Amino acid sequence: MTDLLFPPRPTPVLPVIGAAGFPVGRIFCVGRNYADHAREMGHEVDREAPFYFTKSAPSVLQSGQDMPYPPRTSDLHHEMELVVALDQGGKDIPQQQAMAHVFGYGCGLDMTRRDLQAAAKDKRRPWDTGKDFDNAAILGPLTPKAGDHSIDDLVIRLDVNGETRQQATLGDMVWSIPELIADLSTLYTLHPGDLIMTGTPAGVGPVMPGDALRGTIGDFAPVETRIV
Ligand code: MN
Repeated sequence: MTDLLFPPRPTPVLPVIGAAGFPVGRIFCVGRNYADHAREMGHEVDREAPFYFTKSAPSVLQSGQDMPYPPRTSDLHHEMELVVALDQGGKDIPQQQAMAHVFGYGCGLDMTRRDLQAAAKDKRRPWDTGKDFDNAAILGPLTPKAGDHSIDDLVIRLDVNGETRQQATLGDMVWSIPELIADLSTLYTLHPGDLIMTGTPAGVGPVMPGDALRGTIGDFAPVETRIV
């Protein structure tokens, strides 16, 4: 085997409640998956067409660590999201089998340089600089799923400095977890380690240095950070 010129970047590993660590592969993010958030961004949800963008594994920041305010933005936004963690891959996965690919769930923050994303939208350019940057995917520990029962009744919530900014129930998602896995698997070959950030409810907004963020979903392990 050929020697490497330099060591590969380490894969982020998410802690798992009661199990070994979860090495992160790709991070797929769903756009406009809550109708009230789509509306606050000036859109209606298109039931016919979910759409996606990605964050890269090196953009992961573990919950509990501080997030340095990122460069080239003056409008850093929080987006609180359910993270679905896959431990089985595949393509063209039928909806009826999709839940067998789910390892568990977590709380995540899709941090967004909203001004750069807005400029990209205006110019019909990719969203990468607004979405996939250092520390932009803040992820909490994973909780293994307990059976395939629906988690639609769980409350998803984000508090900033103790004040609730976002709150909804997971059942408000336009696209269900099995629908998203089935659809994504027609676009990409999914692999164990892949994560799906399933979109954010209404109430997104700016954060500033000094702000403390805490996101919760039911009794999953929370995601927490402080902007510094
Ligand atoms: Mn998002």
